[in-house]
Amino acid sequence: MSTLASFQNQVKPNWCPGCGDYAVQMALQQAAVKLNLEPHQLALVSGIGCSGRIGGYLYAYGMHTTHGRALPFAQGVKLANPELTVIACGGDGDGFAIGTAHTIHAMRRNVNITYILMDNHVYGLTKGQTSPRSDVGFKTKTTPTGNIETPIAALELALASGATFVAQGFSAQLPQLVDLIVAAVRHDGFSFVNVFSPCVTFNHTNTYEWFREHLSDVKDIAGYDPHDKGAAARHIMEKEGMLTGLLYENDRASYEQASGLAGFNTIKNVEKMPQANFNKLLE
Ligand code: SF4
Ligand code: MG
Repeated sequence: MSTLASFQNQVKPNWCPGCGDYAVQMALQQAAVKLNLEPHQLALVSGIGCSGRIGGYLYAYGMHTTHGRALPFAQGVKLANPELTVIACGGDGDGFAIGTAHTIHAMRRNVNITYILMDNHVYGLTKGQTSPRSDVGFKTKTTPTGNIETPIAALELALASGATFVAQGFSAQLPQLVDLIVAAVRHDGFSFVNVFSPCVTFNHTNTYEWFREHLSDVKDIAGYDPHDKGAAARHIMEKEGMLTGLLYENDRASYEQASGLAGFNTIKNVEKMPQANFNKLLE
C-alpha cells in the first residue's frame, strides 16, 4: 500500500516560497494515496511554466513536454497504456494561450485522463507577463497601463467544449482539492480541474487573501446539481467563475469506450490491434 512517502523523490522544488504550486503537489500526492495508486501506476505529463516542473517533484512516471502540448502527450500515453492513471498538469499560459486548441479538443474528445491547470493569472516562469487569464486592468511589463483584454472564461469554455467533468479548487483549500482530484481521476473520461494557485512573486493582485475574499463553494448554493449543465453555466456566470467544488459532470462515453479501445493496451498488443480500431486512432 502506498503512502505519501512513496511519491516523494529527492528533488527539492525550486518554486518561490509561498507559491501555490506546492499545495497542488501535496494534493496530488494525497490524492494518489487515497486512490491506492502505486508510483508505477501514475504518469504525470506537464507542459512549460513554473507549473510544468511538478512532474519532476513526485516519484512517478513523468514527462516534461513542450509549451502547451502536455495534453497531446498525455492522451497518447493513456491510449497506449490504459493501465496508467494519467494526469496532465500545466498553467494558464500553457493551457489557455499556446495550448488552447489542445485544451478544447481534449475536452470534446473525452480521453480518460485528468488535466490539472494551475491558474495564477500570470506568466510566472518568464517573470511576470500578462496571461490570457489576467484580469482587466492588471499591470505587468507587457501591459504597463493595465490589461485591456477580456480574460478567457475557463469554466464556460470547458462547458462549451463538451468537458464531461469540470471542477475548480484553490491551493489554500487542500482537503477540497484532494477530494476534487480523487473524483476527477475516478471519472471515466476527460476531467478538468482548474486550480487557483497564487503566484506570490509576480501577481500582487490575485493573492491568497484576494481569492479567499472572492471565492465561494458550490456546496453553499442550495439545490446545486452538478449534472444540470444549464444551471451550472448560469451559476458560474453569475459568480464570474469564482466558484470552487465539482461544478459539472456527465456520463458521456469516454473516447476509449466509444471507440471500442477500452482496456486495449497498445504497447503490449499492437500486432493484435483490429485494423478498424487502428484506423480510428489515426483519424
Ligand atoms: Fe510560483 Fe510565481 Fe514563483 Fe513561479 S514565479 S514559482 S508561479 S510564485
Ligand atoms: Mg500562469
